[in-house]
Amino acid sequence: MDQLLLVIDAGTTSTRAMLFAADGACFGSEQRDLTQHYPAPGLVEHDAEEIWARSLECAEAMVAKAGGADRIAAVGITNQRETIVFWSRRTGRALAPAIVWQDRRTAELCRSLKEAGHEEALRQCTGLLLDPYFSASKIAWAMANWPELRDAGDDLRVGTVESWLIHRLTGGLHITDATNASRTALMDIVTGRWDDALLGLFDVPRTALPEIVDCAGRFGETSLFGAPIPICGMAGDQQSAAIGQACIAPGDTKATYGTGAFVLTHTGAERPVSHHRLLSTIAWQLGGARAYALEGSVFVAGSLIQWLRDDLKLLGFAAESEALARSVSDNGGAYIVPALSGLGAPYWEPSARGAISGLSFATGRAHIVRAALEAMAHQTHDLMTAFASDGAAWECLKVDGGMVANDWLAQDLADMLNLAVERPAFVETTALGAAMLAGVGCGMFSSLEEAVPMRGNVVLFEPRMAEAERKRRLHGWRRALDAILAS
Ligand code: ADP
Repeated sequence: MDQLLLVIDAGTTSTRAMLFAADGACFGSEQRDLTQHYPAPGLVEHDAEEIWARSLECAEAMVAKAGGADRIAAVGITNQRETIVFWSRRTGRALAPAIVWQDRRTAELCRSLKEAGHEEALRQCTGLLLDPYFSASKIAWAMANWPELRDAGDDLRVGTVESWLIHRLTGGLHITDATNASRTALMDIVTGRWDDALLGLFDVPRTALPEIVDCAGRFGETSLFGAPIPICGMAGDQQSAAIGQACIAPGDTKATYGTGAFVLTHTGAERPVSHHRLLSTIAWQLGGARAYALEGSVFVAGSLIQWLRDDLKLLGFAAESEALARSVSDNGGAYIVPALSGLGAPYWEPSARGAISGLSFATGRAHIVRAALEAMAHQTHDLMTAFASDGAAWECLKVDGGMVANDWLAQDLADMLNLAVERPAFVETTALGAAMLAGVGCGMFSSLEEAVPMRGNVVLFEPRMAEAERKRRLHGWRRALDAILAS
């Protein structure tokens, strides 16, 4: 048997390790849940030592499954983005809790920086917005509030989750890949370097930050598994999923429908500029050359189905939504605007709240559930319009994530977007992307293009809805949305 690729996928709610062959076949997967700490409303922390311990356990299980470290050609890492870790260079131990991407403790800080007029310069440099989501304000907060970090001086190391894992895997290497660095709001996405003005603005000590490197290459070795294994691939989770979905050419687009929905369109070698509040980000960096992407995030996707199931008790289980949606011929006039935690791209209305509209006595449970699923296509349609207006029109949408197991939803996306929708048979695209990068980094493939066959077969959903029906739906959605935006 040829050598395998080991992927560590350090996600928000769990950490996993997976084994892949060069043809994309998955030989095993091990998963451990991660404790979520909520010290106060709006605050979300992880124990960095737990992230490391669970990742190591999963990786050890996969090395054993492979038959030993010499059976593994390379390690690839993908991770929850923006979450920030603080540790000691000397001891390698975490010095403080990791502040998770969802944490809103810096909302006030971001608001005051915005009011002081800093957003435009930050947007120009990083492609992002002044929002607590990104790492920079979290570092500023930690430096101001956790004295042990200031006291650490030159011993302090700060990095996103892949940097932390690499430090522990290699016993001291301090690097980050360009995709993860592009989510910190500290990196100039054109030069690929930390930006001194932003380091100053957020009071981030430059000596604590990692070196920014490519997404594939021979970065270092880990000797924790019996024999040395090179670490050869790295990317943040959404970029990794885009690679796993073979979004290799400009215009290629993937949408992941999990708890929220994340859409990335590869835009090529030039940094894109959005005029519709989409984020500009790095798709990957190889051989020092950067490929760019536009990104749009929808806050509420699968969590709407969870809410219908757990709080409204309209569903016994998530997959039941498919049969219910099929049991009625239309939404009966009901529309859901799922702004349960504000509206993300392209509206960016954090204080908007959700609504179910168009109700009558004829509205039943199935109509509401159908309206919830329809909201996914409606939100994606508005993103598609924003992407097209920014010069990144979609020709096909490559979908993944837990929700797209729902065939009705996949067909509705094709119908409402009037686009072909592709769903790969193997849906773990995030881990697959990291495996592809590791394969490129260790020389198993000479380019990302050569790694694309790892993606395997796809199921295609072709649009087949009558234009009048599409228009009727979009009109109903627009009315419901406008009512929310006006309130
Ligand atoms: P995450 O990675 O964000 O944890 P997943 O990709 O595992 O999320 O997707 C889980 C989400 O998908 C849940 O919110 C669940 O409600 C939703 N979901 C799962 N299966 C279905 C289905 N068949 N139809 C609609 N929604 C589903």
